[in-house]
Amino acid sequence: MKRLFVLGVLISMVVGGCMVVAIGAAQQDRHHAIGAGAGAGFCAASEADLEAVADALGDGYGTTQAEHAVTIVQTAAARDLPEQAAVVALATAMQESGIRVLANPAVPASYDFPHDGEGGDHDSIGIYQQRPHWGPVEVLMDPAGSADLFYDALERIDGWEDLPVTVAAQEVQVSAYPDAYADDEAGARAAVEAAGACEWIHPVAGYGVNSGWRTAERPTHNGVDLGAPRGEPILAASAGEVVTVVCNARTPAGRQYSCDVDGNPTMMGCGWYVEIAHADSVLTRYCHMGSRPGVSVGDTVAAGDLLGYVGSSGRSSGPHLHLEVHRSHQPNFDTAISPVDFFESREVTL
Ligand SMILES: [Zn+2]
Repeated sequence: MKRLFVLGVLISMVVGGCMVVAIGAAQQDRHHAIGAGAGAGFCAASEADLEAVADALGDGYGTTQAEHAVTIVQTAAARDLPEQAAVVALATAMQESGIRVLANPAVPASYDFPHDGEGGDHDSIGIYQQRPHWGPVEVLMDPAGSADLFYDALERIDGWEDLPVTVAAQEVQVSAYPDAYADDEAGARAAVEAAGACEWIHPVAGYGVNSGWRTAERPTHNGVDLGAPRGEPILAASAGEVVTVVCNARTPAGRQYSCDVDGNPTMMGCGWYVEIAHADSVLTRYCHMGSRPGVSVGDTVAAGDLLGYVGSSGRSSGPHLHLEVHRSHQPNFDTAISPVDFFESREVTL
């Protein structure tokens, strides 16, 4: 579940040669979410992500099914469930409905909700073919709501994590054909991985590194400086949730300073900045924007979504994007990793 952390005083930390210093509770609205530390992935799913998930599911699955699959994975992540839960849910969805929201003539109200087709098995409806005793029709017909009901039932099974997927699925579904779920396990597992392995892009494509990560000259530079000009759009590098939108700028005397004007190298703070929490406890930070970012804490973004524009707010000698990557949703000096290496591992050259 999402937890809201309002930190009264954030410990001062050196960030990219820019001292990030707390300005007080009012402006520190940190929002940690997305199953930090949980195994299940999270992806807001660009078109490319959905196609990758559809491919992983196998023949006969398209982007509509991939979208439902991503919802199933996201619902697990939101509950801090391990990846195995999403695999069980998805294998079940594949077997029961081909991951389609199915209406049923025996339940006329099911046609009042968006559906991908119809089925005729008793009075079973929705992706998991749940029967009316599971819950209200509007929940059974909703991809996220029905996944929640599935996970509720799964979590009631003692030791479900250690059960074979087929057995766990059968116990939830009380199916007459438990072995049927086995066919779908491989596709489900591949799709859950694909749903967590979101597309990564260059946040300011075409502009390279002009100051590196923790160089000999700048050992506390916890990110890279990308030499993009003022006004260049800054794009989310991958899908995730916006967890921080803050103006952090102080004068050498420690007084708060505007982020809507240029800062300078004597100042502290990385100006207007945004943090996005991604799957696998990865976090990206984008500093020195020239004006208030266009996203808000709690927003879900996809790779390529506009975050704001390059500027020079805070401790900065001129317009550029200072970009950091952290291996934690609670970033500090020790969690920073080389953005160049990380992006390389995602097949993106900074
Ligand atoms: Zn920098």
